[in-house]
Amino acid sequence: MIKNIKLAARKPNQGTTIIDVGGVKVGEGLVVIAGPCSVETERQTIETALAVKRAGAHMLRGGAFKPRTSPYAFQGLGLKGLKILDKARRETGLPVVTEVVDTRDVSWVGEYADVLQIGARNMQNFSLLREAGKSGKPILLKRGMYSTLEEWLNCAEYILAEGNPNVILCERGIRTFETYTRNTLDLSMIPAVRKESHLPILIDPSHGTGILQFIEPMSLAAVASGTDGLEIEVHIDPPSALSDKDQQLTVPMFEALMEKLRALKNFMSEAPMRGSIDAAVAFSAPTEGGGSMAHPDSIALTRSTPLNTENKEEDIHLPGAFSEAVD
Ligand code: PEP
Ligand code: MN
Repeated sequence: MIKNIKLAARKPNQGTTIIDVGGVKVGEGLVVIAGPCSVETERQTIETALAVKRAGAHMLRGGAFKPRTSPYAFQGLGLKGLKILDKARRETGLPVVTEVVDTRDVSWVGEYADVLQIGARNMQNFSLLREAGKSGKPILLKRGMYSTLEEWLNCAEYILAEGNPNVILCERGIRTFETYTRNTLDLSMIPAVRKESHLPILIDPSHGTGILQFIEPMSLAAVASGTDGLEIEVHIDPPSALSDKDQQLTVPMFEALMEKLRALKNFMSEAPMRGSIDAAVAFSAPTEGGGSMAHPDSIALTRSTPLNTENKEEDIHLPGAFSEAVD
């Protein structure tokens, strides 16, 4: 049990909270949010949006306000970027996820965004959290790069305590002694959040690794571990990107990843795999009436099925694409 967590805590037999974003249900099945790190031009954003939509993404991401290490680096297009995102939403029908970095901007940015993202660097900006809570908008709360699960859930608590129940958590890697990867993607937060909280959890393998070739294997691992979704950076021409050019997937890479996610989803819906993840974190959700069960077509696993202890690792046959991703 985590101390002081009240509204974010999972109660016995409580299912995962489902957050409806313009018809996309986060917490039910696998939700993929894709798009560029930054909104740069109308063409770049709309072409990327159309491409990720075609590949099967459920929401569009794109930063109009960029929290950058250097004040001289591209800071985002601001209002102009939000207007481009609005156009991309109208052209694709995809709900828009975009970051807000300043307390004073929450209400008006919320007029353009379907989901307000609070970035890793602002996770413990308590006045921003309170403002996000007051907005009532769905909030995607990233884990701070130096933050524990307890600190992260307490930040979700700030938003919930303002009367906003629409909080989506997102693990995006933490700082460790390892410098080979941009961050250390902590996939153990998937079962940890599942155990401690009813809030849905997403994984961001783009910032989590910072390395193009690692995004696919980490996405597959996250899905195998029961994530509610992924947030992935995709760009029509990554070498020309104004931010994070080394970690943005090309459109063909994203299409290939979506194909593999679908194959993994099919594999996981087979009988021996069903229920193993949730059983492993020792809870069961209500089986009827609670509105919390996975959609039959979804990648999320049936939460009341007991762990099949006969299901040993050597019996699990991974499809080709996935087996390449593990050693
Ligand atoms: C982002 O997703 O655009 C971003 C800046 O991520 P993070 O806050 O996780 O660094
Ligand atoms: Mn980025």
